[in-house]
Amino acid sequence: MDQPTTQRLPTYADVEEAAGRLDGVAHRTPVMTSRTANARTGAELFFKMENLQRTGAFKFRGAYNSIAALDADARARGVVAFSSGNHAQAIAHAGALLGAPTVIVMPTDAPTIKVTATREYGAEVVLYDRFTEDREAIGRRLAAERGLALIPPFDHPDVIAGQGTATKELIEEVGHLDRIYVCLGGGGLTSGACLAAGALAPGCAVYGVEPEAGDDVRRSLEAGRIVQIPVPKTIADGAQTTAPGALTFPLLQANVAGVVTVSDAALVETMRFFAERMKQVVEPTGCLAAAAAFAADDLAGKRVGIVVSGGNVDLARFAALIAG
Ligand SMILES: *Cc1c(COP(=O)(O)O)cnc(C)c1O
Repeated sequence: MDQPTTQRLPTYADVEEAAGRLDGVAHRTPVMTSRTANARTGAELFFKMENLQRTGAFKFRGAYNSIAALDADARARGVVAFSSGNHAQAIAHAGALLGAPTVIVMPTDAPTIKVTATREYGAEVVLYDRFTEDREAIGRRLAAERGLALIPPFDHPDVIAGQGTATKELIEEVGHLDRIYVCLGGGGLTSGACLAAGALAPGCAVYGVEPEAGDDVRRSLEAGRIVQIPVPKTIADGAQTTAPGALTFPLLQANVAGVVTVSDAALVETMRFFAERMKQVVEPTGCLAAAAAFAADDLAGKRVGIVVSGGNVDLARFAALIAG
């Protein structure tokens, strides 16, 4: 991500401001509990169900907050994002709600269903060849030519602040938590969780959870600098990031209690748990946090928050994974 490192780090005040903008627009998603999960871990688990958020993932929070924060002129010119996943749909939908034109840069081989969904939310889709073209360069060129604001999926102060509102709502609803597990890709959701927990639940330990194959943040924290890894092979397609960002890395470094990893097999097992026990469709990436809690052996007697991040999974793929 080619982000200027001069951008200011967001604080809890920005999370509060984001909450004001999202009030009455984003769903205040339910917090669910499960006796089975409590019995299995010996803890009291509180699941914040962002699979039930607008567009099916927490990304709506950061996308809407970022576009709403633009001044009227910038908003009228519009925004550009590159993504084939949940960020694209979030930007497209938030832009439509706020009257901002949106341009989404997607690979020519993105699933038709995703391209169609993004267009249906009202975005213009610009296709590029993954093997010969650089999407960031295309995004920057479009931004320069048309005066569009480029909104990245995680490394942006307003995106991080927006994502922090999920954990803010969770703590406001259930009270103090000893620990929170958060699904971790580039670190927008986890950085935001750290800001909210730091202000509302002092002493609460926030853990980011990555797929085993995509442990770029864990490696970066160990090395004390941003470490770049090749695109990881994992079913957690929302966490196939190759490095934390210039903003998310320092925030995670200063605030996170640790980063843990889980296997793809554990993600499938957790998808099955959500479907069978809680009647919830959760995408593989959305299972990271819960899978880590289920694997932990030190939760007895603790109050533990789990941020379930999204539910966008093709039904045929969902069926194949849980049947396997
Ligand atoms: C984007 C995404 C993540 C990772 O979020 P980051 O802010 O990049 O860490 C996790 N789960 C889902 C469902 C996502 O769409």
